[in-house]
Amino acid sequence: MTESIIIESVLTMHCPFCSAQDTKVIDSRLVADGNQIRRRRECLTCSERFTTYETAELLIPRLVKRDGSREPFHEDKLRAGMARALEKRPVSVEQLEEAISRIKHRLRATGEREVKSLVLGEEVMRELQQLDEIAYIRFASVYRHFKDLNEFREEIEKLETVERSKN
Ligand SMILES: [Zn+2]
Repeated sequence: MTESIIIESVLTMHCPFCSAQDTKVIDSRLVADGNQIRRRRECLTCSERFTTYETAELLIPRLVKRDGSREPFHEDKLRAGMARALEKRPVSVEQLEEAISRIKHRLRATGEREVKSLVLGEEVMRELQQLDEIAYIRFASVYRHFKDLNEFREEIEKLETVERSKN
């Protein structure tokens, strides 16, 4: 609550009539079945009134690939990639689905319209690392294109260090 009040007072929309920064909210209400907040504002400089609508951005950002091309997020593609890494590993479908929904949640929570596909790759690795280390290595070796065996070995050693520190 405190945080949202601070944001509200620091970031107020400029008046569309005179561009003054100081406007006050004179009325706010939920509209569109509670999915939108409608705010009536009044400019403290020119006294004009205007309305703003606030809606949660629920879209999953588009992915910007290494070559700069964009593509929409495809949940099926994500699921297929993770399932491939998890093949024959002791991880249930429910665990996979929970991981997918955490990934989607975090992508939405970025609030960005576009994120580097790298961000998604890192999220997947983070989840796989929690679920199953073999699946993590499988995915990472393809995803990170390990240049040579040394790089691969380093990754495994890092994992073992993490394992040891857990115990
Ligand atoms: Zn104004």
